[in-house]
Amino acid sequence: MQYHESMIELVGNTPLLKLNSVTDGIQATVLAKVEYFNPGGSVKDRIALRMIESAEESGALRPGGVIVEPTSGNTGVGLAIVAQQKGYRCLFVCPDKVSMDKINVLRAYGAEVVVCPTAVDPEHPDSYYNVSDRLVRETPGAWKPDQYSNPDNPRSHYESTGPELWQQTEGRITHFVAGIGTGGTISGTGRYLKEISDGAVRVVGADPEGSVYSGGSGRPYLVEGVGEDFWPDAYDRTVTDEIVAVSDKDSFQMTRRLAKEEGLLVGGSCGMAVVGALEVARGLGPDDVVVVLLPDSGRGYLSKIFNDEWMNDYGFLEEGGASVARVGDV
Ligand code: PMP
Repeated sequence: MQYHESMIELVGNTPLLKLNSVTDGIQATVLAKVEYFNPGGSVKDRIALRMIESAEESGALRPGGVIVEPTSGNTGVGLAIVAQQKGYRCLFVCPDKVSMDKINVLRAYGAEVVVCPTAVDPEHPDSYYNVSDRLVRETPGAWKPDQYSNPDNPRSHYESTGPELWQQTEGRITHFVAGIGTGGTISGTGRYLKEISDGAVRVVGADPEGSVYSGGSGRPYLVEGVGEDFWPDAYDRTVTDEIVAVSDKDSFQMTRRLAKEEGLLVGGSCGMAVVGALEVARGLGPDDVVVVLLPDSGRGYLSKIFNDEWMNDYGFLEEGGASVARVGDV
């Protein structure tokens, strides 16, 4: 019989998919690492598993313990699945810009969720960083993975994502492009790829316009899960060779094209990363292989990016192009 013992065994080993349509006019091969094939639907399953298993080994997380974490959703899903399988309780803190869809998913897996305002400084007592610190202090048996500073976050990518990409491309990858949130993905994957290629692989970060990584002050932008208003410890800036800043509009329009043209229903940070990857690929030749990592699925953004009215409200659609036909219109 062929079966897996637990969802935990299905983390990682995601497929690489060639982009054929949005790459029109580009000579390089552009491959997408499609992370929504992870059991929790995002790249964050990788770090959840690594962080929890390391905490078990170190004794920081003990039987009956409570996992407390500020998370924009995907890390929460990964942690919730691994925690549920291993018998831990989860208590998550989310900023209020995160879609209700994502919060409901966390609750479906049995996690408890506290929602905090986005429009306050990180130092404010109600900021999602401070609320989670308070919950850690007040909850017996609490352990905070802290994906922003936990070395097991980049380490999970150094041990899984990086080696997978090297094997899948048979060592032919020349460029790696990813968004930067905590910085774990780009730092761990990038470091592995640089080491194994003797520095030949170029590592490019894609960043929302306004975020600190591309020289901004942290001005609010709408792409979720990427960009920051501070520099997390999980991000190793020596690994990144170049950062490309991408607007919300370009990110979301590309996200919609990926669904329409490539059959990839993915999140807004994926569209952003692809815009960055295409910018890099445009100057390259036929022997170059650009891999862009797509962190999550589009299912959590149906009422935003894939909703014409929402897109129109922000001026993100060309010519007001609502495409919902009413009965009688057709
Ligand atoms: N995209 C989405 C949707 C995410 O949730 C995250 C994680 N915050 C990222 C991209 C960025 O990944 P990382 O934290 O590894 O930099």
